[in-house]
Amino acid sequence: MSDPRPDRYAVVGNPIHHSLSPRIHALFAEQTGQHLTYEALQGTPGQFAEEVWAWFSSGFRGLNVTVPFKEEAFALARVLTDRARHAGAVNTLWRDDERRIHGDNTDGVGFCRDLDRLNFDVRSRRILILGAGGATRGLLQPLLEGGPEALVIANRTVARAEGLVEAFRDIAPATRLAACGLDTLPQGPFDLVVNATATGLGEDALDLPAHLVQADSLAYDLVYGAGAQRFLGWAEAAGCSNGSDGLGMLVEQAAEAFAIWRGVHPETAPVLRELRHEIDGQ
Ligand code: NAP
Repeated sequence: MSDPRPDRYAVVGNPIHHSLSPRIHALFAEQTGQHLTYEALQGTPGQFAEEVWAWFSSGFRGLNVTVPFKEEAFALARVLTDRARHAGAVNTLWRDDERRIHGDNTDGVGFCRDLDRLNFDVRSRRILILGAGGATRGLLQPLLEGGPEALVIANRTVARAEGLVEAFRDIAPATRLAACGLDTLPQGPFDLVVNATATGLGEDALDLPAHLVQADSLAYDLVYGAGAQRFLGWAEAAGCSNGSDGLGMLVEQAAEAFAIWRGVHPETAPVLRELRHEIDGQ
C-alpha cells in the first residue's frame, strides 16, 4: 500500500525566513514518528484572515503564528483557550471537524517549562519583566499562577505596563503587581529579570542599573542566540552569571503546539541540545 500524504503544518509570520520552527518540528516529527511536513509561510499585512482560511482550505492541519500576526490570529479564532483569552494573542491555530478555527497561546507555558529546566521556581520570588508587548501578555498568567511575591512590569510606554497590571491583577491577588517606566525602575535585586523587549538586535540598547540583579538572580532574554548577548552581557557585568536566552522557550512552546495538533508531547531536551549545537556550536 502506498504511503499516505503527510499532514501539513506551517508557521506564518513576516518576516519568516529566519524562523527555526520548521527545523524544530522536523526534529519532533522524526523523534515521535509522526508523518507530517512543516513549512514557513510569509503572511501579508492586512490579508492575514483571508490567507489563513485559504491555507486551511488547501489542506493545512495547523498553523503557528508569529510577529506581527498574533493579535489578528486571536481575533480570527472562533474558539479560544483560557490562556489565549488572557494573553489576547494566539500563536497556535487548528480547525475542528466543523471547520471552526481554534486558537491557543503556548508562549507562557513554554517559558514556564524552560524555567523548570533551569530549576527556577517562581513561588515567593521577586520578578521584573522588561517590556509589555504581546510576549509579556502571554507570560503573565502562568507566571502569576506560580505565586511570585512581587512582579513588576517595566515598559518604555508606561501606560501599556499599567494596562497589563489592571488586566491581570485578579489572577494573583497575593502577588504585589506593579508597573513602571524603564527610567523609573525600582530598587533591586530581583530573583528573575526577563528581557521581553524587542531591543535584542536593534540599535537601542536598554540602559539598566546593576542593582537589578545579584549573583544568584536569573537573567532571561526571550530572544535567542546573538540577539540575547547584550542583555546577558549586562547581567554578567552586574555580577549575575546565571543567564539564559529564549531558545528553550522557543522549543517548549513548539512542543506544546505539536502536542495539541498530534496528541503526543515530544521530548524537548534532545531537540534543544541539537539546536544549541547548530546555532552556536555548544
Ligand atoms: P511587541 O509586542 O512588539 O512588544 C515589543 C516590546 O518591546 C514593547 O514592550 C516595546 O515597548 C519594547 N521596545 C521596543 N523597542 C524598544 C526600545 N528601543 N527600547 C525599549 N523598549 C522597546 O513584541 P513581543 O511579541 O512582545 O516580542 C518581544 C520579544 O520577545 C521579541 O524579540 C520576540 O522575538 C521575543 N519572543 C520570543 C519568544 C520565544 O519563544 N523565545 C516568544 C515570543 C516572543 P513599547 O510598548 O514602549 O513600544
